[in-house]
Parts: sequence; structure tokens; C-alpha cells
Amino acid sequence: MKRSILFSFFYSFLILLLLDTSVYGNLPEDAKGWKAGLARAIITPAEPIWLAGYASREHPSEGTLVDLWAKVLALEDAKGKKVVLITTDLLGFPEKMSDRIRNQIAIKYGLMRSQIILSSSHTHTGPVLMDALFDIYPLDKKEVEVVRTYSDNLEKKIVTLTGEAIRSMAAARLYSQNGLTRFQVNRRNNIDSTLTSTTELKGPNDYSVPVLKVTDVSGKIMAVAFGYACHATVLSFYKFSGDYPGFAQIELEKMYPGITAMFFQGAGADQNPLPRRTVPLALQYGRELAAAVDRILNENMIELDPSISTAYSEVKLTFSTPPTIDELKKIEKESTGYQQSWARHQLETLGKNGSLITSYPYPVEVWKLGDQVIMTLGGEPVVEYAIDLKKLFGPGIFVIGYSNDVMGYIPSESILKEGGYEGLSSQMVYGLPAKWNSDTPEKILKEFEKVAEKAGVNKVLK
Ligand SMILES: [Zn+2]
Repeated sequence: MKRSILFSFFYSFLILLLLDTSVYGNLPEDAKGWKAGLARAIITPAEPIWLAGYASREHPSEGTLVDLWAKVLALEDAKGKKVVLITTDLLGFPEKMSDRIRNQIAIKYGLMRSQIILSSSHTHTGPVLMDALFDIYPLDKKEVEVVRTYSDNLEKKIVTLTGEAIRSMAAARLYSQNGLTRFQVNRRNNIDSTLTSTTELKGPNDYSVPVLKVTDVSGKIMAVAFGYACHATVLSFYKFSGDYPGFAQIELEKMYPGITAMFFQGAGADQNPLPRRTVPLALQYGRELAAAVDRILNENMIELDPSISTAYSEVKLTFSTPPTIDELKKIEKESTGYQQSWARHQLETLGKNGSLITSYPYPVEVWKLGDQVIMTLGGEPVVEYAIDLKKLFGPGIFVIGYSNDVMGYIPSESILKEGGYEGLSSQMVYGLPAKWNSDTPEKILKEFEKVAEKAGVNKVLK
């Protein structure tokens, strides 16, 4: 009896989680302005663990270049509505981990999915997380347990930090503005090895550096949240590091002692920091990005009114026809490495469930802080999403990728047609059954139109 009551309570709660909500809680009448709170913790693993993002690594990590961080900014508007921005020096949260973290935040602090952005910098020198890209890492059982223990502790830490950030909220002011810097290179349309002799780089690109500044009421900077659309792949070695976003945060925290600098990754799935592969280069790009943020902090930023509106939804994206059993068996027999592992897993799923998944619930989220619009995408979105969303909603919007669930690459219409890594073969890396259907980009943009409307954001392009 008790069990069924508990179950139905939990079930109704889950239903509630799925519903979009733009208003939460009772509204205190005396609140006048913003409130902001911060919390941070080092999340560098204490023991060797496999590093995420490359199929070519052969063994677990060997030491630390710089620490990895999880940071939380909690904001409350004049009516008492709250949001939390969570940034991490990690590759990306897979669905199950993200769901557990966001469910715990909902249960403990009453925040719905529309009020949470759980994002990652996409550093390729961070730890492998549970159930993420397992086909590309040759983990043995013991190594999987190391990943499981780390992931469990990380989940708890992020939930705890969120509570600390909410509890520490105090009167604040908020400002926003876009800056720019140009070290990203479109990696599909330029050849890495010929860059030194290249005189014209090919796009598309989005050089924006979105900056959100939080000060106390006296004007002293408390936090800076900033972004850039570019893979955090300068480094591919065996030491933990936040790559260029890690260095950018460290540089800003040196420039402005006492602040919390937080990085969010943009729609940078087809952008690389080129040239790359040395620590001085990662530091250079970090400094370039920090300098771009510093310039904005020293110019007139737009002050945001203390109002928050948010909306969230999950749109059903579908996959094209997956390979047949015979085709999968052929891949398993004839290929090696992650292709073989992928084919084996697909065959196991077919054996167990009789079918492969045909669709995926893709998260789309919109925040409006004062007049600043923030659009958040799941997965690894290519830069055309930022370009298209800015065409629809104006050049001043902030676009965040790699948030809430990083389930695969999110190609544009042209990249889906062209194929290649971002359009096709990366689906195997992520363990997905087949390529996304051709209507994927259109569905995502249409969903943003709906979600934006719910959040009170108007289109500039009709
Ligand atoms: Zn990537």
C-alpha cells in the first residue's frame, strides 16, 4: 500500500517534470531586484580514470595539468523565480546522468527542467562518465567501476553545489553583451595540415563571445559566465585539464580576484581550435578568450531587468533506417575498434528488445533574463544552429550547446547531406542506431519557435 502511494507520488512528480513551467513558487512581495548565488568545487578525479572524447587513447589518465571544476550560478528575479546555470569541465552529460541530476534538483530544490541548464565545456581531457560513448573506450570491468564511482560522486556533488548556490543568494545586478574572438576554425571546410600556408579560411563560423556579468549591489563583480563555439580539443594527452576553456576561466579569475568565471560551450561541433595539440596553444586560446571577455567587462554592458521567463521541451527526433541484422553481422565480422563494438551492441539490443530505438527526445530550452535571450541545445550542435537561431531571434541571443543531454552530433541540413564525421560516422561513436533523418534541423528550429513563444521571446524574422 505504502509502496503504491510512494510510486504514484513519484510518478506524478515525473509527469510534473515533463511539463513545461514558466512560473514557479509563491512570489514574495518585498523582492525588488536580482539575487545571485554561487558555488564551486573541484571535480578532478582522485585516481587514474579513462579520459573522454578520443577513441585513440590506450590507457587511463596520468596526472593533472590543471584542476577540473563544477560551478553553479543561481539567479532569482524580483518575483522569486529561480534558475540555475551549471557549468563543468567535462565532455558532456549523457542522458541518464543528466536525468538523475535534474530529477534530484527538482526533488530537493523544486526547480523544473526549464529552470536548469546543465552544461559542459566539452574538454577532451576530462574523465569518461557512466554510459557515455562506451563503444570507443576499451574499458575493462575494474575501469568501468572507477567510472561508475566517479560518476555517482559527481552527481551528488553537483546536486549539493546547486543547493549551496541557491542558499547563498544575495542582492545582485546582471549585465549581458556579446563580444568576439576568432581562433575557431571550421574543421570540415579547412584542412588542418595546410593551415600555415592558407591565406583564406572557409566558414561558416560564429565568433561571438556571449558574456553575462553578475555584480553585487555595489558594482563589484561576483561572477562572469561566458561562452564560445569551438571544440575543446587543443589537448589530447593523458593529463586532466579544462583545455582552452579551463585556461580562459583561470585567466579571468586571475584578472578579477575573487570572482567565479564559468564557461559554456556554444554550437561548436564543427569548429576546432587550430592549430592545436600543445599546452602553450591551449593557454594562448584561453588568454584570447579571456581577453575578449575582459574587453566586454570594460565596455558598457546592458543591464538586465530582474525578470526571468523560461521554457523547455523535448522534441522527438527520428533516425533513418538502421542496418539489417545481416549488415550488422558483417560490420561486426569485418571491422575493428569502435565500429565492431557498436555493431555488437546493436545486435545485442536487437536480441534483447527485438528492435532498435527509432527516435530520441531532444532537449530544447529558452531562458529570458531581462531582455537577454539564451537558447540551449542538447548534443553537439554544429555552428549553423547558432547562425540560424540568430537569424530568427536576433544577433544578440546567447546560444549554448552541449547541455542537458549530450547524445550525439546535431548536424545541419547541408552536413546531413554531405555526411562525414558530424553528419554520419559520429553516430556510431555515440552508439546511436543510424543517422538522423533529414527533417532533424527543421524540427529543432520549429521547436525553438514554439518554446521561445512560451518563454515570451519574439522572432525578429517572420
Ligand atoms: Zn565533439
